[in-house]
Amino acid sequence: MIDEKDKIFTNLYGFRPWNLKEAKKRGDWDNTISLISKGKKFIIDEIKSSGLRGRGGAGFPTGVKWSFMPKKLTGKLHYLVVNADESEPGTCKDRDIIRNEPHKLLEGSIIASAAIGAQACYIYIRGEFVDERKILEAALEEAYSEGLVGKNACKTGLDIDIFIHRGAGAYICGEETALLESLEGKKGLPRLKPPFPATSGLFGCPTTVNNVESIAVVPEILRRGSDWFSSLGRPRNTGTKIFCISGHVNTPCNIEEEMGIPLKTLIEKYAGGVRGGWENLLAVIPGGSSVPLIPKNICDTVLMDFDSLAEVKSGLGTAAVIVMDKSTDLIRAISRISYFYKYESCGQCTPCREGTGWLWEMMEKMAKGSAKKKDIDILLNLTERIEGHTICALGDAAAWPIQGIIRHFRPYIEERIDNYKGDAV
Ligand code: SF4
Repeated sequence: MIDEKDKIFTNLYGFRPWNLKEAKKRGDWDNTISLISKGKKFIIDEIKSSGLRGRGGAGFPTGVKWSFMPKKLTGKLHYLVVNADESEPGTCKDRDIIRNEPHKLLEGSIIASAAIGAQACYIYIRGEFVDERKILEAALEEAYSEGLVGKNACKTGLDIDIFIHRGAGAYICGEETALLESLEGKKGLPRLKPPFPATSGLFGCPTTVNNVESIAVVPEILRRGSDWFSSLGRPRNTGTKIFCISGHVNTPCNIEEEMGIPLKTLIEKYAGGVRGGWENLLAVIPGGSSVPLIPKNICDTVLMDFDSLAEVKSGLGTAAVIVMDKSTDLIRAISRISYFYKYESCGQCTPCREGTGWLWEMMEKMAKGSAKKKDIDILLNLTERIEGHTICALGDAAAWPIQGIIRHFRPYIEERIDNYKGDAV
């Protein structure tokens, strides 16, 4: 478990003001010029060897992603885009970073921009984050007035501007290419890849898109060194992570902990335990609504990191832990998630546009009990026809929660069907 001295987000709960003066006391913007002066290669290599994997859900190594950007300027601008569209149900970590530690994000944005040769950084913030956007704008103003951002940013000789752009509430704009479309003023429709953003991203220029948390931890990694970061957590799953714990726990919270902490410890130590005690646990969605749930017997021992959760056929995703006790109507809960993905589908590809609606309708029948037992396999088959057959990962996100409940709770679904007595009049 984490030592207090290893925490990166020392003001995660906003006990101290977010402003520049206080942020500097916490170590932000401390000699940023010396970090940037070490050069692009040094920064990218340090982030690679720290083992930092993207904190937005996919877990792709951040330093490797940066290394995809063209090494030489080709006459086109380079862009860094920070994805602050945090819309995955259960997830509320980027929001806390922005409202309580905005300068970590801004400093990280300047360093990351320098590393990839970007002259401009766009922070695409979820439209509903009204207060957070105001804080971020005020923090950015402070940074501009101190010469930390803009012309000769941090006295490095580099001109790097940061722009804040508000989204309009579509979940799909959290997908990186839909986000770029939206930034360009178009409808947020995911793009077919390739080309990938590092080749042709924002306005057709080389672009890197990173999550808020991935960028906000960069200055601390460079200050303390990649060895320090990679000594935390487990091999291939290094560093610290903000976990968001919600649902049927006594004290829902965000907490920064080491990667690989046991799920049970996370819930019992920080979230006050499961309502009614650990034995009252039914299942947990460990990484935001799109990942498959895991039943209690797996929750007893599973570790919270990318590889451990993949081994049990779930995922770390955004590390949003949604706890469900035995009072939960699990089938109805997953049906509600299905409705969410049906609603948020952009409609571009047929398996997702048509399939998410069918998934939801079938889940509603399962929840009522009016389905036939053979429909369970039909439903499973449908998820497999959507998964991996769409332009973006929303199709997978719609399929996985249903695969999870069928994998672990088939008898529970069958029991509902057995007990169905017809619709009440
Ligand atoms: Fe749109 Fe769904 Fe296709 Fe993604 S998978 S592009 S959300 S229709």
